[in-house]
Amino acid sequence: MDLSRTLAGLGTALLATALLTGPAGAAPAGDPSTRDFGNGPERHETAAVETASLLSASRLSADAATGTSRWQPKHRGYPRQTTLPVWPVNPDDRSIKLGLIPYHEIAPKLNALQQASNRVSAEVIGKSAGGRDLYLVTVTAPESASDAAKQDRWRELIENDPKAADRDKTLKKSYKTPVWINANIHGNEWEGTDGSLRVIERLATATDAATGDFLKRSRVYVTVTNNPDGRVAGTRANGAGFDINRDHATSSQPESRAVRDVVINTQPYVMLDEHGYTGTTLIEPATPPHGQNYEYDLYIKHALPNAEGMEAAIQRLGYPETTRADIPFRDYAPGDWDDWPPIFTPMYAMYQGAIGHTVEIPLQVNNAAYNSLPVEELRRRSGINTDVAEATIEAALTYSDTNRASLLAGQIEQFRRGWAGEPSPTIPDGFVPGFGPEDRYSTTFPRAYVIPDGTPAAARLVNHLIDHDVRVKRAVHDFTVNGKRYDAGDYVLDMHQPKRGLANSLLEAGRDISNLVPQMYDISGWSHGLLWGAQVDASRYAAPRVLSVPVTRAAATGSVDAPRGRDLLLTLRDGNDVRAVNELLAQGIKLRRTAAATVVVPADARGEAAAVAKTLGVRFTAAPRGTKGDVFDQPVIAAAVAADELFALKEMGFAVRTVSTATLNAGADLSDVETLLVSSGLSYSGLNATGRATVDAYLARGGGVVTRGATGAAFNAAAALLPATAVAGRGDANGVVTVNNVGPVVGAGSLPHSFIYSPLWFTGSGFTVEQRYGALVAGHWLPNDAGTNGPAQAAGQAAVVSGTTAGGGNVVLFGTEPLFRAHPKGLYAQYARALFWSAS
Ligand SMILES: [Zn+2]
Repeated sequence: MDLSRTLAGLGTALLATALLTGPAGAAPAGDPSTRDFGNGPERHETAAVETASLLSASRLSADAATGTSRWQPKHRGYPRQTTLPVWPVNPDDRSIKLGLIPYHEIAPKLNALQQASNRVSAEVIGKSAGGRDLYLVTVTAPESASDAAKQDRWRELIENDPKAADRDKTLKKSYKTPVWINANIHGNEWEGTDGSLRVIERLATATDAATGDFLKRSRVYVTVTNNPDGRVAGTRANGAGFDINRDHATSSQPESRAVRDVVINTQPYVMLDEHGYTGTTLIEPATPPHGQNYEYDLYIKHALPNAEGMEAAIQRLGYPETTRADIPFRDYAPGDWDDWPPIFTPMYAMYQGAIGHTVEIPLQVNNAAYNSLPVEELRRRSGINTDVAEATIEAALTYSDTNRASLLAGQIEQFRRGWAGEPSPTIPDGFVPGFGPEDRYSTTFPRAYVIPDGTPAAARLVNHLIDHDVRVKRAVHDFTVNGKRYDAGDYVLDMHQPKRGLANSLLEAGRDISNLVPQMYDISGWSHGLLWGAQVDASRYAAPRVLSVPVTRAAATGSVDAPRGRDLLLTLRDGNDVRAVNELLAQGIKLRRTAAATVVVPADARGEAAAVAKTLGVRFTAAPRGTKGDVFDQPVIAAAVAADELFALKEMGFAVRTVSTATLNAGADLSDVETLLVSSGLSYSGLNATGRATVDAYLARGGGVVTRGATGAAFNAAAALLPATAVAGRGDANGVVTVNNVGPVVGAGSLPHSFIYSPLWFTGSGFTVEQRYGALVAGHWLPNDAGTNGPAQAAGQAAVVSGTTAGGGNVVLFGTEPLFRAHPKGLYAQYARALFWSAS
């Protein structure tokens, strides 16, 4: 994580625009000096710039592409060495200044270790957003192909028949302890890579019997750098501008998909995610709120002593900077460093059976320090940081080896509870030192979920669940649950399954935790069930009684349901519908729009429509005879938006030209632009004479605008677009809200839920209300210190508005977050409808 955003820095961007109060200043017990807010200043102040990598990385499809490109272990013995491709020397790699290994030296180093040792196997498991290789190193004693196959069968037995695994004495004796180390997921938190390479080298070359025996009992998996783009560039984010350590529930990025596949296929007992820099080394377990779907007893029983073992290891290093570690569970106040959302690597890994820990190495070398400190000081710090990373990894390996029987029993128990549908046990006070009522979180798992088939959203969600190793079946016959009829082909998710915790964490609505803690670390609400556009029905008690078969991919959903010779209708309800429109427009097909959500395809483009129906899963129906509508083209878009929004626009197939205050001031042209998107890095008051003349001329000729968030609202006010006054909720308020869809553009066919982060609402008159806030369903949203601007005050207020400027341009203002981190797929189409309308 990083020091650039401190508690005091929270929401500075919003403070400038109005009415915001920072989080209540709860004095932490420890000193959590670093917090990484997901909606920090850069998301409002830095306009994303299009890169080549982004073009290839974005996709929004319901097809099977993710299934075919996934990493899976080879069915071979160990070593299973491959010669890694060597990357060209890059003298600009930001690692070099710190005396750390640059990316281009990692493959040669691993190739040499493979040559030197039959204990080391390295392979490429995927490509970063920027196209760089992602490496997995496995260190273990040699295994024959049949030995390795036996290990694979045992791994599967633990997951799929944990009772049988528990009875298998040979398994208990001979199953190799799997441990996974993930390094450098934040590209400018470098030394996890260097520390893990040292551990790999020691394990590879040590000649002592103890190490040899350890490797006969263990497999050590290391993703050496999870973010090579960021390592090279010295950035937290990957080449597409995403924080990978917020993407594990969404899987929008290749780096998070790669480690998802590693954790599923290796099923580690223990995993470390190596970060920096917190001043004092920080080692999880975390503070409450604890994710309510964990088997937390099984976790904390090992997580706390393992963390204390790592702390002892860094103390033994003897540096004044490593005399102790902060262990948030032990040392911090509730809410200061929580494990609530499954978006972080260790939290995600917990649902896959691992004892997961974030480790923050201590001494800052990134951001301001990188540029201001003398090289010798940076290298001194990086040296200590590397020692700390190495020491924590070694300590975790020792803990895993020493406690292998208990760790195996715990993983078996986690999966057994899942299959049995047993409630998670109530954990007594003092279960581990410091465990109290504030740590007690649990849920009642529903008996099943049903996801009706037939939409691209349903197929996308089902494929997403399958990719995360959630078991989904398809009903062979029509059936009834809780009095509701479902069709053959609908999806059934029996919650008696090993990874029920993950399934429920993704699908459930979540919980309003505003009153439990004064603040949260990152997002507190999310729900694929409510925000991804598919119908998801929970059955609390009844299991569907219907013959069903396991599925490995969702069935195709696309169709053209119209007689030949008839014009076709497509309703913009999903991002894939939007993508279909953009692909047809790109082919030069003359589409017509009859309303914000309704597009007509001429009968003679039936073949093209059928093709996109097949690839994108969208459904065309027969247009009523005589349907007219206005012909429209692909909108010419200029966008000052955040990286996640640019990515989502690409997913929907929009061609986007990126702009910012700086590019407009430097003479960027808007003369052919039809809509201007403003949410990050464009300030009307920051425009010089050139930039202002460009924008003013654009608005005077009736150019459209779509804004989001505080930066967008400020642009609206300064450029006098709509007479709407923005009111801001707390900058860290976030979660899932209910909304009332009342307007003709955004309101047309939107979901009854939306997502907020730093929510806004709009007051005044002279515009149309598109969507109004209802209530907070899940997340964390407190009123400010005066008791105002909370969800109670927001209820009934305008969350999204539309209107027309003096120049005649169509404008939409979003106070919600329909594209946040490319996550709420079911909200994409409402943004696209606003975009198309604003361009008309
Ligand atoms: Zn980090």
